[in-house]
Amino acid sequence: MQHIDIIIKNGYTVTINPEMEIIKHGAIAIEKGKILAIGANEDIEKNYKSDKVIDASSKIVMPGFINGHSHIAMTFFRGYADDLLLQSWLEDYIWPAETRFVKAQFVYDSSFYACAELIKNGITMINDMYFYSKETARAATKAGMRAILGEGILDFPMAFHKIPESMINYALEGHEEFKNNDLIDFAMMPHSIYTCSKENLITAAEKARAHNMLIHTHLSETKKEVDDCVKEHGVRPVQYLNSIGFLGNDVSLAHGVWIDEQEQRLLAEKGVGVNICTECNMKLSSGFAPIKGYKENGVTISLATDGVASNNNLSILDEMDMTAKVHKAINNDPTFLPAEEVVRMVTIDAAKIFNKEDEIGSLEVGKKADIILLERNKLENMPMYNVYSHLVYTMHSESVQDVIVNGKVLMQDRKLTEIDENELFEKAKYYQIELQKK
Ligand SMILES: [Zn+2]
Repeated sequence: MQHIDIIIKNGYTVTINPEMEIIKHGAIAIEKGKILAIGANEDIEKNYKSDKVIDASSKIVMPGFINGHSHIAMTFFRGYADDLLLQSWLEDYIWPAETRFVKAQFVYDSSFYACAELIKNGITMINDMYFYSKETARAATKAGMRAILGEGILDFPMAFHKIPESMINYALEGHEEFKNNDLIDFAMMPHSIYTCSKENLITAAEKARAHNMLIHTHLSETKKEVDDCVKEHGVRPVQYLNSIGFLGNDVSLAHGVWIDEQEQRLLAEKGVGVNICTECNMKLSSGFAPIKGYKENGVTISLATDGVASNNNLSILDEMDMTAKVHKAINNDPTFLPAEEVVRMVTIDAAKIFNKEDEIGSLEVGKKADIILLERNKLENMPMYNVYSHLVYTMHSESVQDVIVNGKVLMQDRKLTEIDENELFEKAKYYQIELQKK
């Protein structure tokens, strides 16, 4: 009998393994941050014991959700300005607020707050772009969250950066500084093709590849972005990025709303994944991502919340529900995008986009123990005939009960184990008052 760190037992265990196996009375043995064994209760109990046994009798046990694109340091801008045209939202509200507030301490405080909120939403990994991203790395580490982080790279001065080289070097420093941190990866994140020159895009991609870092950028969020690209470069955005050697299976895109079929085929061929931000794209009237085309052409897609300033929450379960419904409606086909596919998008498919499918995204032996438990014993969650339909159409984040990242319990019975929520409220109130001062 082996003594191990944690046993989760009696769970309705949704593995997302290649066979999409469900173990109705399943147990998971966790040791040193990884899944040591998974199987029927009796098999695990006969081989392992632990001082920490989590009874998941009334719960769904599954891999944690992955949020494919966020700006978590903007969380204190939640609801600061809504119902505006993108240009006015940015120029009259967000950019002035960022000029006043985006400092190291603000980024740390806002990121740490967001990590607590991510955990409450069952999200165990984010892919996040912002400034002072090493502060976000420190906040995520303290909170116990897994994160891919990148410094936004732009042609013009931003935060404390005067020139793009400073932004690129900051990301390289982060990569070096956090290389032994099991939770953190630094990526190269040029903001977009309309805020980065060709030279900066090329340099960012080259530096990323020289250091084995992932690459992430916003692409084709609005029709205007595509029209401007055609005007300036004579080709559409995906073709433009391809022509400068930017695309590869280390690249993922955010949004990808205005991508035509030829571009979809090129993305599939190059192994580029797209993180779709359905609610944000709807709120800003940017359009609907061509999910049908992506699927037909073999592009790997996942879902994301984008920043809280534009969403205005960090709920991946909301994105799942909205995406499934909207794309059935716009395709005039209720059989399109079945719930099981949507659940794969936010787990194993997202892991594939970030080349992490050997580490996370499913409950399999040897993978990192990033696991969430959702409560079935709630009026609004009973009865349950199909777990995937439940996850997409029935459950909200309030059903997320327990969260484990890298083998560490970050939330138990909906209480954060490492973070004092009252302290967070004080911080949010403080920044709210500061932001309202003219
Ligand atoms: Zn974004």
